[in-house]
Amino acid sequence: MAIWNLGSINIDHVYRLDHLPRPGETLAARSHAQGLGGKGANQSIAAARAGAITHHLGAMGTGDDWILERLADRGICTADIVRLPGEVTGHAVILLDREAENAIVIHPGANRAITSAMLEKPLSAIRPRDTLLVQNETSCQVEAARMARDAGARVIYSAAPFDIAAVRAILPHATILAMNAGEAEALFAAIPDDLPVQGLLITRGAEGAEYRDLTTGAVHRQAAFAVNPADTTGAGDTFTGYFAASLDRGDQIAAALRLAAGAAALKVTRHGAGEAIPGLEEVIAFIA
Ligand code: ATP
Repeated sequence: MAIWNLGSINIDHVYRLDHLPRPGETLAARSHAQGLGGKGANQSIAAARAGAITHHLGAMGTGDDWILERLADRGICTADIVRLPGEVTGHAVILLDREAENAIVIHPGANRAITSAMLEKPLSAIRPRDTLLVQNETSCQVEAARMARDAGARVIYSAAPFDIAAVRAILPHATILAMNAGEAEALFAAIPDDLPVQGLLITRGAEGAEYRDLTTGAVHRQAAFAVNPADTTGAGDTFTGYFAASLDRGDQIAAALRLAAGAAALKVTRHGAGEAIPGLEEVIAFIA
């Protein structure tokens, strides 16, 4: 069994400022830090750290080799990441003021230049007991989901950033729809019932998470582990990647929820996103 993740790869540029700039204002930053980000890359790191064989499907510009090295260091298979001449690697400009209030601009770049032709060869290798992860930060999620379902694989779709048109297009091909509380509220406002998926995974920050099995009506609840939060960035991606990896190795829903909640809680105690996602052994020790 393996996880295939069609996901965004971003370079996060974090600038610390005295205040967020006003229209027309030019400001010097107090500091700058660069890191690997993107919901897709974060979820691949989480799945690989949880022990799953993880293939990342995505696209980048032609520079930035450090990204591939960093993903490979985390145990991710990067052979299906395409380098696109003429496209820039996706990036995010993250402005933080002294109170950690933020303003963020994302340029999707190569993430949105993925074509279904690029996915055909890698996804021809997907098997019935494999899992495809998709989110809303790339192009071609629907095509990928359709190919994976045709092969009999499980499709876990994170409806983030929330976009109701994207959700409607992909739902018929998704097995599990994963959302945070805000996304779930927006979804239920737009589509109150008859969701054509097997399950809903809803995370609620420090209030925990739940999985609703829509085929049986069962609801599995998981409390959040109590921690002192340092930085919640990437908590949702850590949860989703760990949850997917746990199901991939055959765990039941309750066990997958518990492992994912432990991993996300540990992540919350650390600064950073992908780089701060914990490994399986420490998560198992933490939840024991
Ligand atoms: P983000 O966008 O910050 O990655 P999200 O909004 O997608 O997060 P959340 O619902 O905030 O996702 O969090 C995902 C999971 O992470 C929660 O279900 C919970 O298990 C864990 N988590 C988040 N915040 C906390 C916290 N303060 N303490 C413990 N666990 C937390």
